[in-house]
Amino acid sequence: MKYIIYGKISGALLLILLLAGCGGTEEEAVPEEEQTETEADDAPDEEAESEEPEPLIDGEDLADDGSIQALVNKEHHLSADYVPEDLVPVEVPTVLESPEVNQLRQEASDALTEMFDAALADGITLYARSGYRSYNTQASLYDSYRAAHGEEAANRFSAPPGASEHQTGLAMDVTAESVNLELLEAFGETDEGIWVRENAHESGFIIRYPEGKEEITGYLYEPWHLRYLGTELASDIHDSGLTYEEYIKESGMDIEEDGE
Ligand SMILES: [Zn+2]
Repeated sequence: MKYIIYGKISGALLLILLLAGCGGTEEEAVPEEEQTETEADDAPDEEAESEEPEPLIDGEDLADDGSIQALVNKEHHLSADYVPEDLVPVEVPTVLESPEVNQLRQEASDALTEMFDAALADGITLYARSGYRSYNTQASLYDSYRAAHGEEAANRFSAPPGASEHQTGLAMDVTAESVNLELLEAFGETDEGIWVRENAHESGFIIRYPEGKEEITGYLYEPWHLRYLGTELASDIHDSGLTYEEYIKESGMDIEEDGE
């Protein structure tokens, strides 16, 4: 059934959704000329909602202890006042002006530098587009989508404040000149996107929203959205072929007590 649902989304809408779900900042997330096309959406929202997965782990504010392995998704939220204590400016090429989004937590930033250097050594040039996003930034972004598209539509491609992995300071959207430094599904088929998919785990990152896993992660395919989890866990997840949600469930991993 999910294929029928997604099949009804036009190509143009899909592109917009992809740009918007993760996309950089308020001012750049959705090109204005494309916003008008979103009215074409006729997917059965009620059905999509009824198929939302059950919460995988009991507990609240699982990420507020600052764990590198924190699970943050539409069922597991960060509190409004959670701000990572060790945010630093990333030391790799960036795209946007906003100082906020060009930050990650120290460990993730170091790993990002290592990954970009490894890519360069293979002839691959990457750019960092959107990293840390505060609760308030996410709230503004979500409100703007809700105003433009209505709440139901917004919920399908944007996270409410507290539900975005970007608030952890452990997620970075990466891109390349081959996709004009934007966040497009086509990135996954570029040399850079393929390199990232095959190598990011060596530096501790996973592609958090893989293709065909929308029902589990709650997000459409985002080949650009990388989540730092450390090399050991990222490599295990990469080798398993599972999403983080599935991996936690299948491994019986206790993310509350196994934080470091
Ligand atoms: Zn992202």
